[in-house]
Formats: sequence, C-alpha cells, structure tokens
Amino acid sequence: MIIKQKLDLNYTLSFGKMTRWVSGLLEGKAIALKCSQCEKSSFPPQRICDCSSSKNEWFELSGKANILVKTSGVDGDFAIAKFEGSDNSAVVRLKGFKIDEMNGKISSCDPSKPSLNLIPIKSGNE
Ligand SMILES: [Zn+2]
Repeated sequence: MIIKQKLDLNYTLSFGKMTRWVSGLLEGKAIALKCSQCEKSSFPPQRICDCSSSKNEWFELSGKANILVKTSGVDGDFAIAKFEGSDNSAVVRLKGFKIDEMNGKISSCDPSKPSLNLIPIKSGNE
C-alpha cells in the first residue's frame, strides 16, 4: 500500500561562522580560512584545523583549481579539485567541461541553492 501526500516546509537556514564562505560562493569568490597556529589554508574552510586550533582568519583565493578526479552521474558532472593556495581539496560541480579539461575557476551560483561550481579555464585565457 502507498499513500501519497504533499508536504510543504518553510525553513530558514543560518550559516553562522560559515556565512562568509557561503556569501563567496554566491558571488563566485573562493573565500578560505587560514589557521593562525600552523598557517594551513582550507577551502572549503575547516573551522577547526587538523592541528586542533580554532583560531583562523578569512582570506580570498584566486579561485583557480586543478581537477584531481572527475566523475559523471545522473545529477551532472562532479570532481575533486584542489584550489590554488589551499592545502585541502574540495568536491565541486563541473559546468561545461570537456573530457580533457582539468583546470577551472569558481563561478557564481543560484542564490537559493549555494553550491561550489567550477567552469573551465581555456589555455591562454586565464
Ligand atoms: Zn592549524
């Protein structure tokens, strides 16, 4: 037996400390955290560093990234990418990449659905 019902849900999300990062995603800017203790940079930002410190500062990366691994699925193309100036890697949604393109830059996203999107950098067009 199956019962079909419509469910509506209104909600408000607050991003707290991560507001700066999410605001950057909306504008197509890569805003990262740098640990004040060991200087490790993280994008996406890690509120607590691997060294256990929670003291950190926001700064902006160039937004350029190298793709480490790509995958495709029914929801689109995705990758693990390392952003220039960051010590960790990020899961990104790929937009408009050809199979041999492995360099991209962050692009802005739909304000109602913050996400980390990468568009290709054409060689000689950086
Ligand atoms: Zn640290």
